[in-house]
Amino acid sequence: MPKAFVAGHPIKHSRSPLIHGHWLKEYGLEGSYERIDVAPVDFGEFLRSFPTQGFAGGNVTIPHKEAAFAGVDRRTAQAERVKAVNTLWIEDGVLRGDNTDVAGFMAHLDASLGTGWEQDVDTALVIGAGGAARAVVAGLQDRPLKRILVTNRTLAKAEDLVRDLRPGSRVGLETSAWEALGRVIPHARLIVNTTSLGMAGQPPLTLDLSRAPRDAAVADIVYVPLETPLLAAAKAQGLRTVDGLGMLLHQAVPGFARWFGVRPEVTPALRALILADIEGRR
Ligand code: NAP
Repeated sequence: MPKAFVAGHPIKHSRSPLIHGHWLKEYGLEGSYERIDVAPVDFGEFLRSFPTQGFAGGNVTIPHKEAAFAGVDRRTAQAERVKAVNTLWIEDGVLRGDNTDVAGFMAHLDASLGTGWEQDVDTALVIGAGGAARAVVAGLQDRPLKRILVTNRTLAKAEDLVRDLRPGSRVGLETSAWEALGRVIPHARLIVNTTSLGMAGQPPLTLDLSRAPRDAAVADIVYVPLETPLLAAAKAQGLRTVDGLGMLLHQAVPGFARWFGVRPEVTPALRALILADIEGRR
């Protein structure tokens, strides 16, 4: 019976057990997925010992993604680009790590905007330069866009991101000053918020979307609340919107497939289950 985990510190608010538990039930699989609280000082030992505890692999979350990146034997190209690992498994006796936020963000973007959406997008604007921004930029870089502009409150972090991800990029990668957001928005057909602004308890991200192209799409990776003030403002302007919940659900797919042998689907029923949890209705 395959066993998998999500390891973090703290871990009690993770929704991953709900997602994987839903799929185990839906596909009638024997298996388990459990939360494990691992303090940072214990993570190195945990990484080496989880196979001996009967685990096929698992997810790692805050604050262990960088330690997992450093501690695995082999990483996927996506993990290399993001410099963080959120999914672990053993293959041919080797401890491997992937960053599935990249595929998760892109899968939900494709599902929301329809395949081929890139044809109308020359410039994408990514707001934020944290770990999630790296995953978003890494995903967008594989698509036929002309350029990706990265802006961040702390410009130096945007510069680091661009410097790290630029080598080999077919898409132009540039930074843009936070103060210049108003000037950039009219050129961006895809705008992505990867900051924590707009999250419950945080101030909103306020952009002047009245000057955005009429066919622009606005994505927010914050999913609590599901409709952030930014997405509400985009809807009010008649722009297409992409919420953050789909990324959370899609990033779970590759791990489940590796540990349990079935590639699961992100269905309306799964989305409704997690949404009910977010809204406190469960
Ligand atoms: P992180 O590494 O801590 O980065 C936080 C980002 O937010 C930085 O760019 C930071 O700018 C910016 N920021 C924070 N407060 C700000 C403020 N008051 N004004 C302007 N910018 C501010 O975090 P992360 O891991 O990238 O996560 C970012 C958000 O994405 C979180 O809300 C997280 O829940 C969400 N997320 C969602 C998914 C999903 O599956 N949907 C996956 C991963 C993350 P500075 O550099 O200037 O501090």
